[in-house]
Amino acid sequence: MSISKEKPPESSGTESPDDVVMDSSFENEIFRFAEEKVGIIPKKLKNVMSICGFTSSTTISSISTEDIENMEQYMRELDPTVAPPLRIYMATSKRVRYYLWAINIVFRMDESTAVAFNPDEITKDFLAYLETHTGYFATIGTVQTMGYINVGDRSSKYPDTQIVHFFFQKGQNANIKALYESIGHIEPLAVAAAKAAENSNVLIVFLINLVPKSIGQVDLHSADPADQPRIFANYFSDEADLDLYLQAIRLYFQFLKTKTFTKHEVEIFHIPIPDCDLFEFDSDEYWICYVRHTISTCFHPVGTTKMGPDSDPEAVVDCKLKVKGTTGLRVIDASIMPVIPRGNTNAPTMMIAEKGADFVKEDYGFRPKDE
Ligand SMILES: Cc1cc2nc3c(=O)[nH]c(=O)nc-3n(C[C@H](O)[C@H](O)[C@H](O)COP(=O)(O)OP(=O)(O)OC[C@H]3O[C@@H](n4cnc5c(N)ncnc54)[C@H](O)[C@@H]3O)c2cc1C
Repeated sequence: MSISKEKPPESSGTESPDDVVMDSSFENEIFRFAEEKVGIIPKKLKNVMSICGFTSSTTISSISTEDIENMEQYMRELDPTVAPPLRIYMATSKRVRYYLWAINIVFRMDESTAVAFNPDEITKDFLAYLETHTGYFATIGTVQTMGYINVGDRSSKYPDTQIVHFFFQKGQNANIKALYESIGHIEPLAVAAAKAAENSNVLIVFLINLVPKSIGQVDLHSADPADQPRIFANYFSDEADLDLYLQAIRLYFQFLKTKTFTKHEVEIFHIPIPDCDLFEFDSDEYWICYVRHTISTCFHPVGTTKMGPDSDPEAVVDCKLKVKGTTGLRVIDASIMPVIPRGNTNAPTMMIAEKGADFVKEDYGFRPKDE
């Protein structure tokens, strides 16, 4: 169900669970409600959820009359100089954010044995899969091997680094370039990396810091709600993150000495980066420079509307996912994660959604039919 642009009907105060509104045009709603606040305040929606993802959840989708009052009070304290509509928009957008991010290193492999990629093979592979469920289509594709290791504190039970391996066949230059561009690398870097596949197979290894200490931020770009937000990744604002990457690189290079890597002729592919080439290749200074130049997102931002106790000034929602200081507004998506889980975020988000749905049902006295 989505919020219409029309003025909502007066609330009878007896809405059923069906009246719970899934937001679909949150910015307009915020401004509309704020405008209405200046005039006659109609009774508003009783319970609203924002499920718009990490940047969208930095704004409050739409809120009840009481919620507006509470939020207004809260936001006046936050910044008395800002006009009311903008204050609503800003209610959570200044909160700190957590990011998950990665570096990648390109390796050439199988130089003497690599067979060039042949598009015709795809048809053969597809038939093989249909007939025997074997071959390329029986695999999970480019990203076949993942690992978790502990680099910073070897005695800890929990990993701090995720390793993701992307494999490309000789000749798949375009695929490598596409991968690089998809993570936001500039063209010279993407073109240079793609060259690795000219004469050999390629392994691109992503090292992902699962416990970044540097924290990003999402800000408003302007008072126009249609404007894109400004995202500040703040990579390496805490230098401990650099150190973790350096240790992870050194640890990963240990694999190069193993029998399997030796057999596959795995070697680092040098990507020219003028600033880094001032340093001796493979020195610590070189890799620190490389990390700074190649760091990218790995698409797992969370924490824009962090869940936490009242004692935490950064917390936006409580343990029932309700926005603090409001009575009927919930955020149910990845943005409520107080810290990044040490892994990918999709499955945890689904669990948040399951739990959030239960909270809403609980509030409305909904019981499964067979209870
Ligand atoms: C390129 C990429 C690759 C990823 N790969 C993986 C992976 O391999 N494994 C993994 O676990 N995780 C992965 N993730 C992360 C995962 O997708 C997210 O953590 C997860 O989807 C977050 O869920 P969410 O509900 O918080 O936000 P989203 O999934 O972003 O959902 C937000 C929804 O709100 C909608 N929306 C936004 N604004 C409005 C509006 N104004 N009105 C109405 N609707 C609106 C959007 O269209 C969207 O459908 C990846 C993410 C990206 C971007």
